[in-house]
Amino acid sequence: MIKRCKRCNKLLFFRSKLYMDNYYCPKCAAIVQARDIEEENKKLEHEKQIAEKKLQLKKARIRSKIADKRLLEELESEKRELLKKSEKKAEKLRLKQQKKSKDIPTEEYPVKRQTHELYFDRDTIHQHDTLLYVEVEVNKLTAVEWLHGKKRVVLSHKRELRRTRAGGFSAEKFQKFIDAKKKETGEWAVDLLGRSGVLRDKYDLIKVVSTKDNIKEELESYLEKYL
Ligand SMILES: [Zn+2]
Repeated sequence: MIKRCKRCNKLLFFRSKLYMDNYYCPKCAAIVQARDIEEENKKLEHEKQIAEKKLQLKKARIRSKIADKRLLEELESEKRELLKKSEKKAEKLRLKQQKKSKDIPTEEYPVKRQTHELYFDRDTIHQHDTLLYVEVEVNKLTAVEWLHGKKRVVLSHKRELRRTRAGGFSAEKFQKFIDAKKKETGEWAVDLLGRSGVLRDKYDLIKVVSTKDNIKEELESYLEKYL
């Protein structure tokens, strides 16, 4: 049986070519072969491109992973910086406040303590049922009593002497006014202390304090009747 070319259908006598299980004339065999080689090359090229793309994607993924890691690290270090800063700030504030709280006692304590030291000491207060403390100055009168150790402020009066100067006193007249008030201080204090309901009938111990000796003596002699 005479074979025919698979591509052009020409009758093949001696010069037939077997290619991929089919018979071709030499011309068609070359064309088919060339076409197959081209297709094969295209396929290879396509596979190469896909592989290339895959590689690029993989590289990109690695890059973005590295970038993510770096970003995370940067954020972490920023966070640490902020924390450090706020810790420093807090420490600074703490030191400032510590300094402040150290300053306060040296400024305010002596004044408070001075007043307090003028009171009876703790033992004296506990050894007596009733005690009276009177502090008197030209413009100030304070009376404090203790009943079975319990403190109570009985009187706390202040008077403004300078206010009257606005009424048109000359300096000399004002000084006279002040002097007169000083002389009257005892009277002023006695009047306030002597009002009914201010003091108890009797005290176990009375202490009078004043920067002016004459006023102190005047008050002490007045308060004798309460002992
Ligand atoms: Zn052919």
